[in-house]
Parts: sequence; C-alpha cells; structure tokens
Amino acid sequence: MNDQFPIIALVGRPNVGKSTLFNRLTGTRDALVADLPGLTRDRQYGYAEFEEKHFIVVDTGGLMPDSGDALAALAEEQAQIALEEADHILFLVDAHKGRLGADESIARHLRKFKKPVTLVVNKAEGQTKNQATADFFTLGYGEATPISAEKGDGLPVLLREILKDFPETPPPEADDDDTIRVAIIGRPNVGKSTLINKLLGEERVVAADQPGTTRDSIAVKFDYAGRKHTLIDTAGIRRRARVTEVIEKFSIVKTLQAIERAHVVIAVVDAQADIGEQDARLMGLVAHRGRALILAVNKWDGLDKADREKATYHVTLKLPFLEYAPLHYISAKAGTGLPKLMKDVQDCYAATMREMKTPELTRALEQAVESNPPPAVMGRRIKLRYAHQGGNNPPVIVVHGNQTDKLATHYKRYLANQFRAIFKLKGVPLALVFKTGD
Ligand code: GDP
Ligand code: GDP
Repeated sequence: MNDQFPIIALVGRPNVGKSTLFNRLTGTRDALVADLPGLTRDRQYGYAEFEEKHFIVVDTGGLMPDSGDALAALAEEQAQIALEEADHILFLVDAHKGRLGADESIARHLRKFKKPVTLVVNKAEGQTKNQATADFFTLGYGEATPISAEKGDGLPVLLREILKDFPETPPPEADDDDTIRVAIIGRPNVGKSTLINKLLGEERVVAADQPGTTRDSIAVKFDYAGRKHTLIDTAGIRRRARVTEVIEKFSIVKTLQAIERAHVVIAVVDAQADIGEQDARLMGLVAHRGRALILAVNKWDGLDKADREKATYHVTLKLPFLEYAPLHYISAKAGTGLPKLMKDVQDCYAATMREMKTPELTRALEQAVESNPPPAVMGRRIKLRYAHQGGNNPPVIVVHGNQTDKLATHYKRYLANQFRAIFKLKGVPLALVFKTGD
C-alpha cells in the first residue's frame, strides 16, 4: 500500500504550544465523535485533515522526559520512533520567550534525523513577521513561519506548504470490493504474531519484507470461512518475516496507519499480564477514528479460575470500550475461540458498512421518541423530525430537529442505543450528529 497518511511530528520545548496546535489540527474530528461513550482523549496522536488531505499528527511531548514512570518512558521511546517515521517535523518555538538554550539543543537533536523540518514561531499574533522570526534565524532552519496556534493565524499557509507534496487521500472505501480489512493491534508480546500465524495457517507466504523502508506496509490476503480478508500490517507481521531477528519496534504510528486502513480492528490484550493504561490508549485511538472494535483477551489457556476472575475484573475495570465492543477470551496458541472471533469480524464489517435508508432511520427515530420523548427545555419540547445516514466506516447518523443543541447527553446516548439495536450496529462507535433547522 502506498496510500499511507503522512506523519507530521510536533517538536519543541514545554509550553511553546504543541498541544494547542495539536488540538487545533485534530479538532474537527473530535467534534464529530465527542458523544461516544467511554472515549478517552488521546493527547499525543491524532488524525487531521486540511483541504482534502489527511495526515497523522504526533505531539512528541515526551521528547524531554521529566518523569521516570513506565508510560513516560514509552512516550519517550515513541517520540523517537515518531521522529524516525515522520515525513515532516514542525519545530515549534515561542515568539514571546524568544530563542532559549533548550531550543538550540532541540535544533541540534533534530539534525540527526535528516528530515524536512519547518521552524514555526508560535504565539506570533500581533507581531510582524520580522519581529516574530528574526531571533530564530541562528537556529539554522532558515526563515521561520509565524503562526498563532491559539487564534489560527498563519496555519493555512503553513499547512499548504508542508502538505504540498502529498497527494489527496482517497477514502479507504474507494479502493476495493467486499474484502474485509482487519488490523490486529496491541502492545508487544500480547500474541499478535501468534494470532496472525494461526489465522493465516502455517504455510502462508509473507510478502517480501524490506527492512529500512519504514513507510512501506504489508497487506496479507487470506480467506476465512469463505470470506476474503486482508490483514493490515502492524509490527507483528514484519518481525516474523525477518530472518535476521531484528526486533521490530512497537510503533504507535504504524498502529494508527493500520487502524486507518481497517474496517475492523482486533485489539489484543494479554490475560497473563497486567492490562492497563497502554491497552486503553490503543483502544482509545480506535474509538477516536471510529473503527469497529473487537477486544480479544488472549492467553486464556493455562489460567486457573482465580486468574481468570482477576483478568476479567481488570478488563471490565480498565477498558472502557466494552459498551459496544464484543469481547472474546481466546488462546491464539491453541486456536481456541478463533472461529467465534472471526464471525464477529464479519458481523462488525457488516455493521460498519451498513446502508441505512432515510425512511427506515426516520421510523426508528419516531419509535424511539414515541416510547421516550425528549424532555422539554424551558417549557418547549425538543422536536426530532427525521434522520439520514451521513456515512459509513464509521456509521454516522444525522438527526434533524429543533433545539437539538439542548439535548442532554443521556438522551443522545439513548437514541444511539436505539439505532444500534434496530440496525444491528455491532462493535462500531456510532456517531450521531444533530442539526437544528431545515
Ligand atoms: P506545550 O507544552 O508545548 O504542549 O504547550 P501548550 O499547548 O500547553 O501551551 C502552553 C501555553 O501557551 C498555554 O497557556 C497556551 O494557552 C499558550 N499558547 C499556545 N498557543 C498560543 C498562541 O498561539 N498564542 C498565545 N498567546 N498563547 C498560546
Ligand atoms: P506479539 O509481540 O504481540 O506479536 O506477540 P507474539 O505472538 O510474538 O507472542 C509473545 C509470546 O506470547 C510468545 O512467547 C508466544 O508464544 C506467547 N503466546 C502467544 N499467544 C499465546 C497464547 O494464546 N497462550 C500462551 N500461553 N502464550 C501465547
């Protein structure tokens, strides 16, 4: 596949405005999915879009670690990997503070990566270009681009410039037939490769692997229960394909690429290890992108009753996506639970691609309203008139009415559950969009 999203990494010392810029770049999609239950906002990795071009933004906030815990360490390593995999680096500095020693260290550090770097002076609102940028010329990255992440000034110019060499991205639906694209994601050692090998069968041929070309991804086609599937690369496939025992680095960015291309994501966790925040983070990314999600709790073999209870407890406690994601207890090694898992892959695919007609959706809406009308706001009833489909993978349902901005969250969730039940939307994070007027 050569239709990967470009990766833009944001780098800079603390407080230059990386997360403000990150939020601004990834913001529109958040608005669309903001009503999802159990969604944890992932601060560091996100999808963004500008003038028909899609890209992935990585906030490498962890570049300068200040805490020693495991998650910070991973963030740090992931920041390095993100820089290695980045197509373009935005090096942020602060117009208010001027050039600091930390900026100079970062400037030196970035040279090692031999990547295109754009020096961006943030917080430049109200300053002339010359005032904002003059101080930074000696960092050695040429003339800086002034922006205001907070106000949005300068962003179109900046984005047009860095995205100019990347093609417009076709939506994934456009590229083939009814093949189900599956991504298997999870932390290192949870059993992804074992699961993949089991699904593909022993004698499969792995597509030629090319070490060093991190942008290439591998897609493996296979049939399962009479259906065509394509398995989308995450690090798991590649590592096994290597003769040279190079340990492939676990890459959140690659995981994001795979999620993007998938219809259905199987998130694997290890029942014999701690299930925790990193697993939840990965699943948060899937929910954020609106992909169908199935949770596979692996290594279920060899656990006694107490261990199983403990694992189940951790799954329900720590992974807040169970509200819609089907849950499977499997053993990739023994092959147990895989037929049922793959049946759900088919069901989730059907759900995420489901076509829902306007009269059917409107009837479902009317039924839902009839049995449980929305509460009145200041004496006025909220009217919900009709609904139509706004897209699939992920399914989007647009509900039209008046005062829809006053609808309570619990009522929106009630509606989502009604639609989910009637249209059998298994495993998908259904997005409801409300419109007032027309
Ligand atoms: P990070 O540590 O690099 O992620 O920085 P943040 O995004 O958290 O921003 C640090 C501070 O700078 C916050 O108080 C922001 O509100 C502020 N800030 C970010 N962007 C701008 C901007 O364009 N103009 C101004 N004046 N302040 C900004
Ligand atoms: P990956 O890094 O996620 O691809 O994980 P691997 O597939 O390489 O598996 C990591 C380790 O877990 C290996 O030693 C596997 O043999 C083991 N493993 C994988 N699946 C299972 C399972 O279902 N049960 C048990 N007991 N071990 C497993």
